[in-house]
Amino acid sequence: MNSNIKYLPGYLQTHEKGLLKKRTDQLYFLLESCELCARKCRVNRIEGELGYCKSGKELKISSYGPHFGEEQPLVGPKEGGLLMANIPGISKSGGSGTIFLTGCNLLCVFCQNYNISHLGEGHSISSEKLAEIMLHLQDSGCHNINFVTPTHFTPQILKSLQIAVASGLRLPIVWNCGGYENPEIITQLQGIVDIYMPDFKFGNSSPATKFCDAPDYFEQCSEAVKEMHRQVGDLKMTEEGIAIRGLLIRHLVMPNDLAGSEKILKFIASEISTYSYVNIMSQYRPQSEAYQYSGLNRCPTGEEYLQVIQLARKLGLSRGFQYKHLNRL
Ligand code: SF4
Repeated sequence: MNSNIKYLPGYLQTHEKGLLKKRTDQLYFLLESCELCARKCRVNRIEGELGYCKSGKELKISSYGPHFGEEQPLVGPKEGGLLMANIPGISKSGGSGTIFLTGCNLLCVFCQNYNISHLGEGHSISSEKLAEIMLHLQDSGCHNINFVTPTHFTPQILKSLQIAVASGLRLPIVWNCGGYENPEIITQLQGIVDIYMPDFKFGNSSPATKFCDAPDYFEQCSEAVKEMHRQVGDLKMTEEGIAIRGLLIRHLVMPNDLAGSEKILKFIASEISTYSYVNIMSQYRPQSEAYQYSGLNRCPTGEEYLQVIQLARKLGLSRGFQYKHLNRL
């Protein structure tokens, strides 16, 4: 039994009311003219047609396991700067139970998981097997089930969730998505997803077009994030600092301000909440096809990163990033 279960996730009630099955069926129906993400390819995935994400009707994953490199509220508590993994008698860091889905609806040219997202590396698995994996992660002591890049497999995931819930799954679901969502699909996840963790990648259309072929990225992402926040609110944690419900936004600082950080942070501060948990990330590295694009072929400088942090502070944001070093600017 996983002693890290501190909170009963929303999907239990949704399942009891029969709504989990109803939503799953509705979303499966959409596979016949797929609009699961903002691309709205309208291909018939049941009949074998493939859209932008190159994913059919079969669920495909590349890997799964406890992950200790995610945000601390997902991974579990630290003490003295060290993760408290599996130390008997004290509160444990059980890690985030990540499941990496194969394929992606966004396909950024700088993707760090190119083989999985662009090249389709992974294995087809049944709904029953995915449910088994969720239960295995729960039994391993993970704090949550973290679906990485789930959007294009939403109905298949919900079908597995039904099976896992009936067999005793009690961990919060993390929806770890790229932000190019169909807001109407996000509304279908109300009462199912406890923790939304979208990327917020681009503020401006030109880089979103060039690097992700998604000119309306900001508009779609901002609507989706609003809906996510409406459902679950700001990120809430247990006394031990473990996330149980809410919104956690990731923003990757890019070289030459290609991400348009100011527009994104202003939106979050004014339209979402200044109490938003925003992980402002510095780890952009040119990978995959990024070397072919001028402006993308270097890491952001320390100064570029600190300027974004300073801006976030000016806007009243304070959760999810370190800012003690600001006085060095
Ligand atoms: S999930 Fe998105 S990219 Fe994939 S087929 Fe459906 S609408 Fe197209």
